[in-house]
Amino acid sequence: MSGPDGFSAQEIFDSGAGCTGFTYDDLILMPGHVDLPVDSVSLETNCTRNIRLKTPLVSSPMDTVTESNMAIHMALHGGLGVIHYNMPVEEQAYHVRQVKRYKNGFIMDPICLSPDHTVADIMAIKAKHGYSGIPITKDGKMGGQLLGIVAGRDLDFVTDMNLKLTEVMSTKVITAKEPVTLEEANSILAKSKKGKLPVVNDKGDLVALISRTDLIKNRDFPLATKDANKQLVCGAAIGTRPDDKVRLDALAEAGVDVIIIDSSQGDSMYQHEMVKHIKAKYPHIDVVGGNVVTARQAMNLIKSGVDGLRVGMGVGSICTTQEVCAVGRAQASAVYKTSKLARKFGVPVWADGGVASTGHIVKALSVGAGVVMMGSMLAGTEEAPGEYFFQEGVRLKRYRGMGSIEAMSKGSDKRYFASGSKVKVAQGVSGAVVDKGSLRLYMPYLIQSIRHGLQDVGVGTLDAMRVALQDGSLRFEIRSPAAQREGGVHSVHSVEKRAGMV
Ligand code: 5GP
Repeated sequence: MSGPDGFSAQEIFDSGAGCTGFTYDDLILMPGHVDLPVDSVSLETNCTRNIRLKTPLVSSPMDTVTESNMAIHMALHGGLGVIHYNMPVEEQAYHVRQVKRYKNGFIMDPICLSPDHTVADIMAIKAKHGYSGIPITKDGKMGGQLLGIVAGRDLDFVTDMNLKLTEVMSTKVITAKEPVTLEEANSILAKSKKGKLPVVNDKGDLVALISRTDLIKNRDFPLATKDANKQLVCGAAIGTRPDDKVRLDALAEAGVDVIIIDSSQGDSMYQHEMVKHIKAKYPHIDVVGGNVVTARQAMNLIKSGVDGLRVGMGVGSICTTQEVCAVGRAQASAVYKTSKLARKFGVPVWADGGVASTGHIVKALSVGAGVVMMGSMLAGTEEAPGEYFFQEGVRLKRYRGMGSIEAMSKGSDKRYFASGSKVKVAQGVSGAVVDKGSLRLYMPYLIQSIRHGLQDVGVGTLDAMRVALQDGSLRFEIRSPAAQREGGVHSVHSVEKRAGMV
């Protein structure tokens, strides 16, 4: 009998590669023997020494990708979101707090108005957001004393747009008292036949709002990434400047679980110092260092005490580092080499950037990544910051590199050691990505596609895939350029490409 088909990762990356760096498109995995149904494939994995995820996906700390809404939905689906830091400290801490306080079905930051606002203000909100059940608080803010509510039907016969809300609001409001479970709130709403249920504290201050339409949409999130207090787990990025220590304190205070030190070249004296500072001051917070692409860089960061490593240089979809600075590494080689070393120290690798398909995610995991970090794959979803716009009939969202001139002028130049420098050298571009809909459909699609990949390879868990990677039973081949063309869609006159979400 002949030996196994294909080659082990060791043969490809350690010896066979010679001096070539490989990336995801160069590789293809050999199928194994399928002996389990796809739904029983488990994607559990460690993203840091201490945090385990049920879904190996994390969202990038970029200002067009991750704020609280993205982080909440990544965590609900078993992944993790990393809040970017191209904003004032208080704002970033606010986003972390939103994630930590999130309760499925409870709106924690509803739009409120005061009795002195007018019917025109409600109409403006309705036009922008499409809803009209607005709580009225004394100061017009969330957290203020609840005085009433204005529902759509309160305005049915109102023609005077300047009428104050105090004239139209219903003051007999059915409320729920904190603490209340979603089930209890559900039954109060069902009995009240109202659209909105304000939740108040002992003093009568508004602390949350529950909406009937959300309740109908709500479902359980069995994969959700939660801490010991059953709150969603949240990551946040910081830089390595002295003022980032102040930022760190605010994030720690807000309850952040994992800090990502954001730098395009992570093996620097600044980062080593910051890792040590965080580990000494906040031993309960995990620290992910990076970015690195070589085993030597990885070793230096591991020695300084990181709990995870972010890997990738110059491979992001919006990134021009390799073109501008001539430094970086092909991503599959970078992930393989760093994770081979990091595994010995129990430090998971985050394969960051360069992912354009679910196949790329499977390949990143197959060469040793613990989790995969994405920017462009997520930037077009509803949960990413920013509004949609149309260009030539296509619905798009903006997506920009944090090293683009546009983002750097807002402050993100720290990542590229460029702040304070008179000449700014862009290492990224700005652009747009197509609408991907909501993570509520998109994440289950990504998860199921990855499961299919593992099933085809013949492994039931990511841990089993890593064992197969190490013992050489996971087999790969390098694809020629013609084979890569053959592996994509070809020889058809027209193509309708749909992700297959239902
Ligand atoms: P994507 O998933 O879009 O391929 O890549 C996202 C990753 O690209 C981010 O997580 C980050 O590591 C990297 N990145 C973000 N902005 C820039 C940039 O402007 N320049 C470079 N070199 N990399 C960037």
